[in-house]
Amino acid sequence: MEFYNLAILAVEAAIYFLVLIVLLHFRARIGVGVFITVLGTMHFLETYLAAKFYISVPFGSISPGSVMMFSGKLMMTLLLYTKEDAATVRQLIYGLLIGNLACLLLAYTLNLQFGTGVDGRPLPGDDFMGEMGVLMVWGTALLYIDSIGIILIYERLGRVIGRGLVPRMFIAGALTLTFDQLGFFGVLHFYTGAPPSVFWSGLIGKIGMAAFYSVLTGIYLIVARQQWKMPVRIGIRDLYNDLTYREKYDELLSRTGLDTLTGLQDRARLEQDGIEMLKTATRNNEALSLLVIDADHFKDVNDRFGHLEGDNVLKMIAESLRGSVRAGDRIYRFGGEEFIMLVARASHAEALETAERVRRNVVDNVRAGGVLPVSISIGVATAPLHGQSLVELISAADRSLYQAKADGRNRVQGAPIS
Ligand code: GH3
Ligand code: MG
Ligand code: MG
Repeated sequence: MEFYNLAILAVEAAIYFLVLIVLLHFRARIGVGVFITVLGTMHFLETYLAAKFYISVPFGSISPGSVMMFSGKLMMTLLLYTKEDAATVRQLIYGLLIGNLACLLLAYTLNLQFGTGVDGRPLPGDDFMGEMGVLMVWGTALLYIDSIGIILIYERLGRVIGRGLVPRMFIAGALTLTFDQLGFFGVLHFYTGAPPSVFWSGLIGKIGMAAFYSVLTGIYLIVARQQWKMPVRIGIRDLYNDLTYREKYDELLSRTGLDTLTGLQDRARLEQDGIEMLKTATRNNEALSLLVIDADHFKDVNDRFGHLEGDNVLKMIAESLRGSVRAGDRIYRFGGEEFIMLVARASHAEALETAERVRRNVVDNVRAGGVLPVSISIGVATAPLHGQSLVELISAADRSLYQAKADGRNRVQGAPIS
C-alpha cells in the first residue's frame, strides 16, 4: 500500500509538472499570466491537503499538499525566474500573499453568517476555516522568504558549480525546502498537533520531490530543444551550458562597451569613464593624464602583410598596452589603430614615464608577420594642466601626437604648458 501511494504520488507530481511546464513553455504566446493564475489556483487545494490529507508511504506519513504541491510551486517559481526575471517572480509571490490575506479576511467574515450546509451535510466549522487561513498565510509568508532564498542560492551555486541548471535546481531546492519544512512544521504542529515523525517524513518527501522535479526539468530541457532543432544531436554538455535568460542578459551587458577585435573598452565607454574620472580627480584635487596612442606606418603593415595580419598586430598592441599599465588605469580602442589610455593620479612627468614604458614595450615585443617591429607614437596631456574637460585633454594630446609623428615617430611627446 505504501509503495502504491508513492507511485501515485509520482504520477501526481508528473501531472502537476506537465501542466505548468507547458504553460511556462508557451508563455510568450499565451502570456505568463496563465501560468501564474494556474499556480495560484492550485494553492487552495495545496493548503487544504497540507492541513487535512495525509497518506502513508515507505518512509512515513506525508501530505501530498506540502510534499508534491508545495515543492512543485517552489521549483516552478525558480524555473519562472530562470526564464524571466525577479520582477515576474515578485508578481507571483505578492499575488499569492495578498490573495491569501483576502481569503482569510473573507473566511472570518463568512463565519459571521448563519450557514445551513448543503442537503443537511455539516458545515466546515470555524476551526477548519481558521486553520486553513493561518496555514495559507503562514505558508505564503514562508514562500516569500523561500523564493528569495532559492533564487539567491541558485545564483551563488552558478558561481561555484557552473551553469548546469539541473544540479543547481536540486541543491537550491533541497536547501530551501529544508528551511521551509522547519518553519511550516512548527506552525502545523501548533495548530493541528502533528507529531515529529510528520516532520521527518515531510522532509524526506520534499527533498525527494526536489530531485524528481529537477530531473523532470532536465528532461523538459532536452525535449524542448529537440522540438525546435530536430536533426541536431544534443550532447549533455549543451544542456549544462544552457544559459538562463538573466545570465544571457548579464553576458550581453558585460560585452557591450567592448571592442570586439581587441577586447578593450570602446570609445563610448571612454566618454562615460573619462567624464567620471575627471570629476573624481577634480574633487580629490588629483592630476589625471591622458595618452593618445597611434601605430606608426600602419598602412604599410596592412600593405605588406595583409589586413588579417594587421588585425593580429592590433591585438598584440592591445595586449602589450594591457601589460604596461597599473590596476587603476584604463585603455580604450579609440578608432582604427588608435588607442587612448587614462592614467589616474599621475602628474604630467609621471605620465610621460608611463608613456615611455608603454612605447618601449610595444616596439620591443610586437612584430608584424613575426619579423617587422611595429612602433607607436604617443601624445600626453594632463588635467588640470592642459585642460579641464575630456575634449580639451584629447585635443591637447592629439596635437602632441601629431608633433611626435612629425619628429620621426616611435616617440612620446608631452603637451606644452600653455
Ligand atoms: P602614421 O604613422 O602616420 O600613423 O601612419 P599610418 O599608416 O598608421 O597612418 P594612419 O594612422 O592615417 O592610418 C591608419 C591605417 O590603419 C589605415 C587603415 O588601413 C589601418 N587600419 C585602421 N583600422 C584597422 C583595423 O581595424 N585593422 C587593420 N588591419 N587595419 C586598420
Ligand atoms: Mg597610424
Ligand atoms: Mg591613425
